[in-house]
Amino acid sequence: MIKKDYILILILIIIILSLGMAIISMSGENKTAINNTAPHDHEVIANSSDDPGTVEVIKNIGNPDGRKIAYVVGVHPLENLTHKTLLKILPTLTDLNNCYDIYIINVTEDIGHYGDGSSDNSQGRQNGQNLALKYVYPEIAEGGYDLAVDVHSNVGAYEYKTFVFSPVKEGLSVDYTHDVADNCQNISYYAPDSTTSGPYLTIPLNENGVPAFYYEEYSFAPQYEKDLHMLELIYAVDNEIF
Ligand SMILES: [Zn+2]
Repeated sequence: MIKKDYILILILIIIILSLGMAIISMSGENKTAINNTAPHDHEVIANSSDDPGTVEVIKNIGNPDGRKIAYVVGVHPLENLTHKTLLKILPTLTDLNNCYDIYIINVTEDIGHYGDGSSDNSQGRQNGQNLALKYVYPEIAEGGYDLAVDVHSNVGAYEYKTFVFSPVKEGLSVDYTHDVADNCQNISYYAPDSTTSGPYLTIPLNENGVPAFYYEEYSFAPQYEKDLHMLELIYAVDNEIF
């Protein structure tokens, strides 16, 4: 009798879980970045068959009279769950002080895959970095921005899982990044010894007058945590500069 009850409960749990999964995957399919960002200006800035991907930008999110801030997603294509989190949230916010453009790099060649949670050594990383330097860097360097934030995720090999850091040792980006971390409950300041992508975007931006820092999320954090952390980042950045 008791055993039967257990089996019944187990079957019920399995049914509920699979229904939940089906609903989650269905809503995930419908929530593309483009759908959520339809009301904003949307521009393709690179779409050549010579390149291993495309680059687009969503412009003028938030307060058009505020300071200009750029977010960049897609430099490392495997980190796309965190990129999608920014794309899902930022364009829907209506109480921002500043004006945001999101640069989206869509690597289409050699994206790679995570093997058993191991690190990402795919050619797609280099493809994204090359697209960043070729197309995103000049747009941001010449675009009158007060700040750029490059959005990444990591597989947990660092001392912290969710963190911000500047790729340079001094300058405005260092101050901004420390302030952002101070104002976020779940985001630390932690600078890894080196980055592979720095020379392709954030370092030259810092060296040419646009403070730029990294946001790193844990690749395998549950989606609700990614959402929570992203909101913390967005509002800390928004309140830092205006
Ligand atoms: Zn990355």
